[in-house]
Amino acid sequence: MNKGIEIARGKTKVLYESPGQPEQLVVAQTDAISAGDGARRHEIAGKGRLAAQTTARVFRLLNLCGIPTHYVNGGEDDDDNEMLVRRCTMIPLEVVVRGVAAGSFVKRNPAIARGTILAPRLIEFFFKDDANHDPQISPDGIVGQNIATPQEVGTMSELARLVFEILSHAWRKRDTLLVDLKVEFGRLTSGPDKGQLVLADVIDNDSWRIWPQGREEMMLDKQMYRNLPEVDDAALARVKEAYEQVADLVGTFPVMRPGMAAVIADGPENVDAANAVVGALAQLGLPTVRHVASPSTTPGYVLQLVQQLEATFGRLFFVAVSKDDALRSMLAAMSSSPVFDGGGEPGEVALACAKMLGLEDTVLFGRTLLTQANARANVMNADARLQQVASLPPGTALA
Ligand code: 5GP
Repeated sequence: MNKGIEIARGKTKVLYESPGQPEQLVVAQTDAISAGDGARRHEIAGKGRLAAQTTARVFRLLNLCGIPTHYVNGGEDDDDNEMLVRRCTMIPLEVVVRGVAAGSFVKRNPAIARGTILAPRLIEFFFKDDANHDPQISPDGIVGQNIATPQEVGTMSELARLVFEILSHAWRKRDTLLVDLKVEFGRLTSGPDKGQLVLADVIDNDSWRIWPQGREEMMLDKQMYRNLPEVDDAALARVKEAYEQVADLVGTFPVMRPGMAAVIADGPENVDAANAVVGALAQLGLPTVRHVASPSTTPGYVLQLVQQLEATFGRLFFVAVSKDDALRSMLAAMSSSPVFDGGGEPGEVALACAKMLGLEDTVLFGRTLLTQANARANVMNADARLQQVASLPPGTALA
């Protein structure tokens, strides 16, 4: 990748200018592996390659889900282990999400057994300061020290939780438990979204704990290296093997298998409503075919459509758009595919479809979570605006 001068260097990565693109940077991951805030350090030839692949694949998945990230492209098949990212000012926090008690959490909370499921997920913040071993910091501390605003703390928590759920879903499909995860955020330095929080840094096999089959002793992540009583070539080779396995598994994450939605309007009077459902499905990235057929006027055609569509598409499902239940029940009786009632609010109909596909498809699972999070945020924002208005002195003119 074309890169300019080096602008920063961390324990496992190097940041460069991107020539001619001041709003972007190049991130290169190195072969270094370290633990104990750099107290233990080694090189594993090829680790940078695997780390860049893992990061690129994770970020590509998250971008597909609609999570705002700094990742633009690269990292997967570029020999220099480099990816192009949007330039941002990093917030000096490690945001840790925990779904299972492990690591520093059980050290700090000895009454909670290692392996305990944490529901709801726990969010912890650590101030990035190697010299002081990244001390934990509370949301109030973050705001009090002007590290981030209360809104940003809320957004970081929400996004970190969403990222955890998405990656947890992807790993679960590979019979692996995502135990915990560390992410970092930055503020975009330019462009129309300047100042917006985005998921930044890298997410690779150093960033999480993963236990295949839920069994800690089968771990595949950096904890293997942290736990080594002695580091020799054979041990490092075993660590590298695990990193290779993880990069390969993560390579299968960003695959979308959305299936096909057959949206059937019950007669011409339901075509507009069917189009609205098609629009809502398209917003979630679901492909559709459209037909008009009526159980009362053209029952033979309904049957013919079911047979034709089922013979043509895998992962097919029907959406019956009608003011009554006749079309839906006819489709349900005739077809072996799932049938949804498309008579409701289009966004809700589309979400119900995405939820079903999201059982298998991590991208759609993520898009569903994000749609729900946005809906929650809209309600909260509307309430906040209303409270602002309510607290203005009487007679104050609103802009
Ligand atoms: P713990 O606080 O239990 O040591 O770590 C929680 C999670 O954050 C683990 O998944 C761990 O791998 C990750 N983590 C903690 N500190 C760092 C760090 O400095 N760098 C990276 N990449 N991950 C970290």
